[in-house]
Parts: sequence; C-alpha cells; structure tokens
Amino acid sequence: MADCLFCQIAAGDVPSDQVSQTARVLAFRDINPQAPTHVLVIPKDHYPDLAALASADPGLLAEVTSVADRVAGTEGLAGRGYRVVFNTGAESGQTVFHAHAHVLGGRPMSWPPG
Ligand code: AMP
Ligand code: ZN
Repeated sequence: MADCLFCQIAAGDVPSDQVSQTARVLAFRDINPQAPTHVLVIPKDHYPDLAALASADPGLLAEVTSVADRVAGTEGLAGRGYRVVFNTGAESGQTVFHAHAHVLGGRPMSWPPG
C-alpha cells in the first residue's frame, strides 16, 4: 500500500535500522524504543493488523513469531525473558495499521500493562 509507512520500510523506500529478514518478514528497531531492545517484526506484505494476518495467512503469522523469537535470541534475551506485543485495533493503542509484533526486553517489565 503506497501510503503505508511499514510497506514503505519493507520496500526500502523509508530507511530503517534492520535487524533481520527472511523472504517474507522484516525486523527493524523501533524509532522510539520503550526498552533496551525494542524491535518491530512485520510481514513484508500488507495486512492491517493481527486479526487480518491471522485469518488470511496463519503460516506467515507463525513466521513473524518465529523471527521475533530469533531476534530475542540474537539480542541476548533468550535466558532473561522478553515480551512480544501485537497491538490490534484502535483501543489497543495501535498507531501504524500494518501488522507488527513488538519485541521488548532488556529490563524488568511489570504486568498488567497500563
Ligand atoms: P503501534 O502503536 O503498536 O502501532 O506501534 C507502532 C510503532 O512504530 C511505535 O512504537 C513507533 O515508535 C514505531 N515507529 C513509527 N515510525 C517508525 C519508523 N519510521 N521506524 C521505526 N519505528 C517506527
Ligand atoms: Zn503496509
């Protein structure tokens, strides 16, 4: 989608601090990190949110979560713990309507979130 920020990042038209990628998935650092590690993992194809991705292509969703786990490993979080968040829909706080997983770690985190 031409007017979608994360489609533009996936296409390389907007720069990103890339961490990892596969043929169908890209991981890059969040521009406004909320933890020492804050990486976004996206499908390169456009789905507006987790609900759309899960229903259209569960295999691709599995690949997104697999890359999220791999990124946690390369960031040194495997033995410490990390959090994966899919904000989904307006009330969740989602602001970019291209499905993405936040991978957060490197500091203790409280629960529940605010
Ligand atoms: P969400 O609120 O779940 O939709 O998360 C969107 C995330 O995208 C936020 O954490 C933003 O800081 C992040 N973000 C926005 N623009 C960029 C960008 N150009 N590069 C990297 N991350 C971005
Ligand atoms: Zn998009």
